[in-house]
Amino acid sequence: MATFRIAIVGAGPAGYFAAQALQNLTTEDKSFAIDMIERLPTPWGLVRSGVAPDHPKIKTVSKVFEKVATAGNFRLFGNVELGTDVATTDLIDRYDAVIIATGSSLGRKLGIPGEELFGSLSAADFVPWYNGHPDYKDLVVPVDCETAVVIGAGNVAMDVARMLALEPSELDETDTADHALEVLRRSAIRKVIVCARRGPEHAAFTAPELRELPKLEHTNVIIDAAEIQAALARVGDEAEKDVRSNLAAMELITQTDNSGRDRTMEFKFFLAPLEIRGTDRAEEIILGINNIEDGKVVATGETTTIKCGLVISAIGYEASSIHGVPYAKGKVENVDGRVVGTNVYAVGWAKRGPSGVIGTNKSDASDVVKLLIEDLPAQPKERGDITDLIVGHRIDFFCFHGTNTIYISFNLYGIWRRSLQRLLQRTFPSCN
Ligand SMILES: Cc1cc2nc3c(=O)[nH]c(=O)nc-3n(C[C@H](O)[C@H](O)[C@H](O)COP(=O)(O)OP(=O)(O)OC[C@H]3O[C@@H](n4cnc5c(N)ncnc54)[C@H](O)[C@@H]3O)c2cc1C
Repeated sequence: MATFRIAIVGAGPAGYFAAQALQNLTTEDKSFAIDMIERLPTPWGLVRSGVAPDHPKIKTVSKVFEKVATAGNFRLFGNVELGTDVATTDLIDRYDAVIIATGSSLGRKLGIPGEELFGSLSAADFVPWYNGHPDYKDLVVPVDCETAVVIGAGNVAMDVARMLALEPSELDETDTADHALEVLRRSAIRKVIVCARRGPEHAAFTAPELRELPKLEHTNVIIDAAEIQAALARVGDEAEKDVRSNLAAMELITQTDNSGRDRTMEFKFFLAPLEIRGTDRAEEIILGINNIEDGKVVATGETTTIKCGLVISAIGYEASSIHGVPYAKGKVENVDGRVVGTNVYAVGWAKRGPSGVIGTNKSDASDVVKLLIEDLPAQPKERGDITDLIVGHRIDFFCFHGTNTIYISFNLYGIWRRSLQRLLQRTFPSCN
């Protein structure tokens, strides 16, 4: 039987689903030795550092990933960054195929004056901060203001707004990072306004997330009923199923009692950010008022101002580029997942850009892995593996074989902490 060495870079959902597809496609004459490389000390990508902590059920997908990790022929090398610790060409030379599953971690910019002011943040920084991502633990989030504005009309904007508008005690039972809990507990923010550039019918929120909002115990959720009725009239009977469910969920919000609570989360539509103003920090945001004409969203030329001390933009992500991998339009340049003319493939958000839920990455990775297997040569290269590049090279890595019980407990507790890392390094100094 020929065993092909496959490197998967990135331990998020797309990387694990690619590994699972390889395991599922093992045959009597073809098997795969999988080495997954992750820049962080812990796996699971955005399942750990993106998905909101008050949605713990979604995070249980990590059990699927644990199964992949323990299915055999799988090693995870944590704390190893492609492009910094290891060169792309070195992986390309050693492995029969390299799968880039590094996601999209950079927040898209609003591109407006004042965006760089203190108090103006990207969701790409704020979200990993409350989820305990080690790169963001020192982020300063000013919560000493009454009003925060969130720009965007997708689930990330909704997560961000909910995290700011929740009564912090509702997060006590979650795995929100301690440093974030401490800040949120002393937050003066009582009003969070989510501003969407287009109408309710264009919003990318999803209905299950919208349906949860009226259940919030301590937060009034406000949407202007007239706005939803106008959107319903515009879309008529022709609306797609998703749009209809979203509008129904928003209509339900308009019919729910929205008073008497201490905190408020309000959705406003047809507002485009033009400028963030303030002396030393964000003090107000100027928004252009849009309208819909002949089915097109157009600027009316009028503006409105919201006084606020925190502005968070959640308008999408793009990939951070890695030396030796071609990028175009914020993602790996690829055709159906193939980086043409190489043994490199892309999956997940690195391949498609920042769209799709966790499950979307499964079918997508499986399709790419089928192409990868078609492209494999008759015989494996057998030119070594990542251990040639990191063992003895002063790289502060650690490695988990799937069967390590310590790996499982590490995952169960979701701990980032350095002390555990050191313990692991002492226990498993190398991983040949
Ligand atoms: C804020 C937010 C909330 C979300 N909430 C939900 C939700 O509730 N439900 C849902 O179904 N979907 C949700 N999603 C979408 C879901 O998280 C994505 O579909 C999924 O995580 C994409 O998987 P990925 O593997 O492509 O990328 P990622 O999850 O980003 O994983 C990429 C991995 O690659 C690693 N990496 C990056 N660069 C390197 C490098 N150079 N070397 C080595 N490793 C590297 C990263 O550290 C990371 O672990 C959410 C997304 C966001 C942003």
